[in-house]
Amino acid sequence: MAIPLFQLKQQIVDACHRVYAKGWVASNDGNLSVRVDGERILCTPTGISKGLVAVDDLCVIDMEGNKLEGATHRKPSTEMKVHLMAYKERPDVVSVVHAHPPYATGYALAGLDLGECKLPEVVIALGTIPLTKYGLPGTDDLPNKMREFIHQSDAFLMELHGVLTVGQSVLNAYFKMETVEHFAKIDFIARQLGGARLFSKEQAEELLAARARYGVTTPNIGCRAADGYAYPPEFRDHPGPGANPGPGIPDDRLVEEVTKRVVQALKAKN
Ligand SMILES: [Zn+2]
Repeated sequence: MAIPLFQLKQQIVDACHRVYAKGWVASNDGNLSVRVDGERILCTPTGISKGLVAVDDLCVIDMEGNKLEGATHRKPSTEMKVHLMAYKERPDVVSVVHAHPPYATGYALAGLDLGECKLPEVVIALGTIPLTKYGLPGTDDLPNKMREFIHQSDAFLMELHGVLTVGQSVLNAYFKMETVEHFAKIDFIARQLGGARLFSKEQAEELLAARARYGVTTPNIGCRAADGYAYPPEFRDHPGPGANPGPGIPDDRLVEEVTKRVVQALKAKN
């Protein structure tokens, strides 16, 4: 049954306040949205802190981004182009959250993805968290660059920018943002301690196979394990989008990554 608009508004406002309280945005950064029905999206407006946003500030837009409802002085967030791309490409997506949580955004700025198999919950819930290609915010460039990644996961590090998560409800998309930031923070700490160890392919594939038990059905194309790429059961016989060179590492990045690792290995030897 469809959730009434007033309830969706409250859910978005609550999530905005949490995002702000968590320190995942500064000033007027970040944007959130939720599908109202097949043709309408409820979204945050531009130019307001997520810590101050109230139900009357929200806008309803159509699938092309035109404002249908909302206070006259409020305009939909300029980043709705990215949200609309996600809704159009993924009919399963009900809500989208974009923020700049410091640890995960640090990875996005350093050019690192979160595509390695490390924490059980992350392997099960998200698999890889790819690093999408940079696109100019507020323009069609950003959704166009992110489109190629949108079917790979429910969470994305946006190169030189921030993080985007999608979910089956506002809370679900919000929780995925929480998972990404928590994972990035833990991995950052592990790096200070000499680097995290990865699951073996066998251990990771065991976790990926457990997704069905937990009722996780969202896209998951696996992750990089210690001894190779770990695929979820559905891709094992016929490698899907996770086929070599591995998701999150498009061809040009793979060359870059291999070069970087070879240089590192040579340096370590000398
Ligand atoms: Zn942003």
